[in-house]
Amino acid sequence: MIVSAKWKGLTDAKLDNAEVIVEGRDDYAPGSIDYVMSFTPPPGKLASLPNLKAAFCLGAGVDGFLSDPNYPRRVPLVRFVDRTLSAEMTQYLLLQILMHHRRQRFFDAAQRAGQWRQETLQRRTEDTRIGFLGLGAIGSFAAKRLIDLGFQVSGWSRTPKDIPELKSFTGDVALAAFLGEVDILICLLALTRQTAGILNAKTFAALPKGAFVINVARGAHLVEPDLIAALDCGHLSGAALDVFAEEPLPSQSPLWAHADVTITPHIAAVSQPQVVLDYIRDGIAVFERGETPATVVDINTAY
Ligand code: NDP
Repeated sequence: MIVSAKWKGLTDAKLDNAEVIVEGRDDYAPGSIDYVMSFTPPPGKLASLPNLKAAFCLGAGVDGFLSDPNYPRRVPLVRFVDRTLSAEMTQYLLLQILMHHRRQRFFDAAQRAGQWRQETLQRRTEDTRIGFLGLGAIGSFAAKRLIDLGFQVSGWSRTPKDIPELKSFTGDVALAAFLGEVDILICLLALTRQTAGILNAKTFAALPKGAFVINVARGAHLVEPDLIAALDCGHLSGAALDVFAEEPLPSQSPLWAHADVTITPHIAAVSQPQVVLDYIRDGIAVFERGETPATVVDINTAY
């Protein structure tokens, strides 16, 4: 199953041993399908393919597959994990962090006013605490780069992490303590039942006054009215959002015009088709050898 004609063109070159079927265009017998690749397959689709050997998610987050209540649990689901994706996300995070930390908007405004205003950093880099909700493949990659730049870095995850110079918090009981020590909060969690809505009023209240929030995981992590309220009362100083509950973000959303919100259209880290298809080709070879790729998700934890 291929998501678009763009992918079909590439699969001819990359998956040269496979017969590629384009969903919605080609006729096929459901029993003839061995592998599926998609971002978000139509609900019930995978359950209708009786001989499916594995499903490949074209992105890092598999919520588009596992939100299907009829996902066939016997079918291994492989997610995309790759250095190119982690590096691109880290670039995005650096951009948003430094725009805030180095006060670039202030200097933009000064330039527009024709003013030479030599303000210094509001907080030294060594005193700036960056906290990751989620320290998986991408979060831990980005965290290490921010440590190298001199920031104080911490993270909250389900299992403890042993990353030099990073303070690791785990489990629900440690969440408030983690948030209490964060000036810039980054959400890079997997979207599951446990993490949906985690960026809410209670979470924001636990952050120090003036904290900045970056959500690059999924829109469903964020309760948008709670964010707007926390910004409007001055508790949060700003937010950078790449993902939204509804995408494209509806034109009437108050987020568009909010002075303290930076919006990007889900482009923080984009799966490069050539890289993903190499990854899938290699993954299929692993299954065909009777083995299992390391990046098969745990259906029980849903990530
Ligand atoms: P991983 O699955 O490697 O990491 C997920 C992290 O979430 C892990 O650290 C995991 O903890 C943590 N987690 C999951 N459930 C809980 C919980 N209940 N409590 C605490 N921590 C929890 O994912 P990636 O790092 O590869 O990607 C993260 C997300 O980023 C993706 O799911 C996707 O939604 C998003 N993404 C967005 C992109 C964009 O362009 N905006 C591009 C790419 C990804 P533990 O480590 O203990 O297992």
